[in-house]
Amino acid sequence: MLKVILAGHTLDREFVLALRRGDLPADVDPTPETISAAYARISRFPEPIPELRAQARRDVPASRKSNRTIVFRMGHHSVAEHVQLNFDILGVSRLALEALEDARLCSYTEKSQRYVTFGGEHVVPEEFGPAERELFETTAGEQIAFYRRAFEKLLELQRRRNPDMLGTKTGAETVEGWAKEDARYALGLATETQLGFSGNARNIEHVVRKLRHHPLAEVRALSRGLFEAASEVAPSLIILSDPERFREAFGRDVSDAFVARGRATIERLAREAMASARPAAASVGWTEGDVTLLGGPADPDAAVLAALLHSGSGLPYADCSARAKVMSPGERRGFVRDALAELSEFDALPREFEAASFTFEIVLSAACFGQLKRHRMMTLAAQPYDPGLGITVPDAVREAGLEDGLRTLAHRTADAFGRLAAVAPRAAEYVLCNAHRRRALAVIDLREIHHMARLRMDKHAQWDIRNVTAAITALACRAAPATSALACGKDAFAEARSALRA
Ligand SMILES: Cc1cc2nc3c(=O)[nH]c(=O)nc-3n(C[C@H](O)[C@H](O)[C@H](O)COP(=O)(O)OP(=O)(O)OC[C@H]3O[C@@H](n4cnc5c(N)ncnc54)[C@H](O)[C@@H]3O)c2cc1C
Repeated sequence: MLKVILAGHTLDREFVLALRRGDLPADVDPTPETISAAYARISRFPEPIPELRAQARRDVPASRKSNRTIVFRMGHHSVAEHVQLNFDILGVSRLALEALEDARLCSYTEKSQRYVTFGGEHVVPEEFGPAERELFETTAGEQIAFYRRAFEKLLELQRRRNPDMLGTKTGAETVEGWAKEDARYALGLATETQLGFSGNARNIEHVVRKLRHHPLAEVRALSRGLFEAASEVAPSLIILSDPERFREAFGRDVSDAFVARGRATIERLAREAMASARPAAASVGWTEGDVTLLGGPADPDAAVLAALLHSGSGLPYADCSARAKVMSPGERRGFVRDALAELSEFDALPREFEAASFTFEIVLSAACFGQLKRHRMMTLAAQPYDPGLGITVPDAVREAGLEDGLRTLAHRTADAFGRLAAVAPRAAEYVLCNAHRRRALAVIDLREIHHMARLRMDKHAQWDIRNVTAAITALACRAAPATSALACGKDAFAEARSALRA
């Protein structure tokens, strides 16, 4: 069952010390809002900041009033970013998490389906009536039964393959993790999980408001839970997401029309546009596995080099771009080699690597999407899951003789999905498995591609996201051979560096 608990929040250090000493006056509310109120005053008042904080602490009602005016009436929303809020979220489905984790400026740590065995706990969507519920439960039961069976067989396979790892606790756990990570392809998107979620008050406000209008009842309940928990400690910073409080504060209604209906309008218009005329599809770009490079700069190496020349030389961009364009492949490689000579696998690349962005279409499993979406420095827009795209079958599942079983399960699940979608189109997705797939569009710059490659092409990464990241990286390397020369997993960094020096 869904539970949202406020776990922690920013608090002025003087409040913390007073609480510790036990001498906080009974009529003072130790709220995080005083930090935002004090910082908001920095721009207009001459007093040193500690004095502004003391003033804000002394008069909490005035601080709240000032937040309401400055943040919402004047639109200086960024002062709300000084307050951080942390939440424990329990009993949330994998599907609902996708809506939450769409917020790119927040932080998440979730229970991993790689490390934890799932006991079958799952959300039952409110959208279903008794008949749909029965079908849903039957299908979820089959998925969980297959997961348990598959886990046993995969564990046997991994133990047989890796006898040398079984002697240590860590080794044995790793082997067990491999079995879990492949068995989970049978688990449904209704599977419950838990996570730690943190964000600043401005982002929490945005999340609450966006999720309040989500088509899934569970996501709307999550929005209410977050709103109640956040507004308990920071009411003056959570206003836009509360129509009543907004009306009270400003004497008019907040317009939620776009948040509530914008997405549905886009979907309707897109369906109409695609139904009215469908010219022959233009040929797409290079493809690598399930990833297609759809677009990017004509000469991405030159785009990054021009940006580096621009910030380094002090000359106008037109000159830098003209120079970058005529650099030979050897000169380009040499420039990158020397510019990044001291870069380690733990250092971020210079920001100029963001000057080249690529658009990819990726067909990926729900298990893989769950990992890709955690990379926040990109534009990621996904279609709903589509059983018509087939399933992703882990190699180990094939080797353990479980492929037919997984395909039969996916087929039965797709059939249940079709029947549930006739009644509740969005909620039907709950029944699909981690193996089911969707199409996603991702716009990723070269700096983030390097970051993803380091983490996700490394030997510790799960194979599905490793394959997708390797394909993204291979396409980027083909388009930008000089500036992608160090795009690789952490474990291959030394080798890539030697190759660049050679
Ligand atoms: C082997 C492995 C195991 C994992 N296991 C789990 C797990 O069990 N549970 C789980 O929840 N996740 C897990 N993850 C996901 C991981 O925690 C990250 O969320 C994910 O890899 C995204 O990477 P990132 O946060 O470094 O960077 P991105 O989101 O790709 O952002 C790029 C960079 O921008 C900066 N950045 C972006 N946002 C912020 C921010 N809000 N604050 C500060 N800096 C920011 C950081 O420098 C970051 O490196 C795992 C990842 C790996 C590789």
